[in-house]
Amino acid sequence: MSYSTHKRVRFPKKKRIALVAHDSRKKDMLEWVKFNKESLARHELFATGTTGTIIARELGLEICLFKSGPLGGDQQIGARIADNKIDVVIFLWDPLMSHPHEPDIHALQRIATVYNIVLACNRSSADFAISSPLMDGEYENLVVDYEAERIRQAETMLK
Ligand code: PGA
Repeated sequence: MSYSTHKRVRFPKKKRIALVAHDSRKKDMLEWVKFNKESLARHELFATGTTGTIIARELGLEICLFKSGPLGGDQQIGARIADNKIDVVIFLWDPLMSHPHEPDIHALQRIATVYNIVLACNRSSADFAISSPLMDGEYENLVVDYEAERIRQAETMLK
């Protein structure tokens, strides 16, 4: 099966960027945000509770805080992605640790893929994302229209 229909969703010039870092990656995140502070300040920033609190305190950036990841923050970001209100997620996760909120982490990564938003899960991807010329203009995101596909599939099953 292949998907034939797509929807166009506009990323605004000022991107809505969510920052999430697992505990062992918070130092990396802090360094990365510090290095890219000037670029990040041109966008609207969101973060899970602990990550965002540390970044805001250390670097003085204005950040909208969600709940801490294990307390629902990843899910809050996922819900905003589904509403087309987050364009980019920088998610420095720890691949060698298991986490109590593993299903939430997986769900966030999955929903970011469903809505075809920018998802950087390591520093090099984050570097490439933040330095892309596409970050500084509007962007037409071509998202597979899974909703239409699902209705089509359901209708064929009614026959
Ligand atoms: P935190 O959440 O920023 O509250 O630590 C991150 C996560 O573990 O998802």
